[in-house]
Amino acid sequence: MILPGSTIGILGGGQLGRMLAVAAAQLGYRCHVYSPEKDSVAAEVSAKFTCAEWHDRAALSAFAQDCAVVTYEFENVPVAPLAAIPVELLAPGTRALEVAQDRLSEKRFVEDLGGRPAPYAAVDADEELQAAVERVGVPGILKTRRDGYDGKGQWRLASPSEAAGVRVPGDGLVYEGLVRFEAEFSVILVRGRDGAVRFWDSPHNVHAGGILASSTLPAPAIVAQQVPAARKLAQAIAEALGYVGVLTVEFFATAQGPVFNEMAPRVHNSGHWTIEGALTSQFENHVRAICGLPLGDTATVAGRVEMANLIGDVPHVAELLSDPAAHLHLYGKGEAREGRKMGHVTRLG
Ligand code: AMP
Repeated sequence: MILPGSTIGILGGGQLGRMLAVAAAQLGYRCHVYSPEKDSVAAEVSAKFTCAEWHDRAALSAFAQDCAVVTYEFENVPVAPLAAIPVELLAPGTRALEVAQDRLSEKRFVEDLGGRPAPYAAVDADEELQAAVERVGVPGILKTRRDGYDGKGQWRLASPSEAAGVRVPGDGLVYEGLVRFEAEFSVILVRGRDGAVRFWDSPHNVHAGGILASSTLPAPAIVAQQVPAARKLAQAIAEALGYVGVLTVEFFATAQGPVFNEMAPRVHNSGHWTIEGALTSQFENHVRAICGLPLGDTATVAGRVEMANLIGDVPHVAELLSDPAAHLHLYGKGEAREGRKMGHVTRLG
């Protein structure tokens, strides 16, 4: 057990790290953030900050010496340099990163566990693209295998001719058929060091332009019906990975049942509502899990919960707070840019 007073290392310096550090502080832990970007909104609320490149093994090793446990708030941390960190310090383990960093291995991994992703084809070279689009059919979405997030690295194709001229990057692409879904939802679970698993209620997630716009509970009936099967798959993923911490799996609810979209080996935007909307938040339970503490109750505390992201320009703060039911979270990011997550508002009702 890693006791309060110890230092938790967080790889990545964004808002997820910030909210993790706040939850860790409440339990009496100190956080040490490692990020290549010097403007880190997580470092701002943490005891220590190492600003160094992901490939700087000496910096990673020195960072690890200061930490009792090391976790991630960003799933695209390069895995090879993490060999500089003693393996017993990392929670979750790097296998979860390896799987989630590559859309192709993620889909294959999930299929092996009985899950069903959207129809897809791997595209490793320019000359494979046309055949892949024809095999899967249109409409569909071309996605980079690596480094995509918030709809980045994705192109929608309405006809096979739109694939002409696309250059396949070195890491390859995946072409996915467009899923006709009734709703999107996520399974958010936490798994402790002893293998205990708890689930939060699954929110109904609405995306705009590939970015999460809102998460609402209770989710519509079609989601509620598909949650048991989705949870079974998410738990199988966690167990196959020997996972410790919060794991998020995103699904499409379709007329044919749940379709796996993607997984995140970390706390997730669709779980931000748990800060006020659940007895124990995803952030606190992630800290409890990686530190080997008993997990907190994940029950939802209100009949209705809505989390809305603040993307790009932040509306006037006084106006937002004129609704006394609004819980405002601002991430402290200096510059508002199109598509940038600046904060979120949660309302319980
Ligand atoms: P992703 O980053 O792959 O989760 O994509 C972001 C969002 O784009 C998803 O949450 C969906 O709203 C949409 N999307 C991605 N892939 C598909 C697909 N194969 N079919 C339908 N919608 C998709």
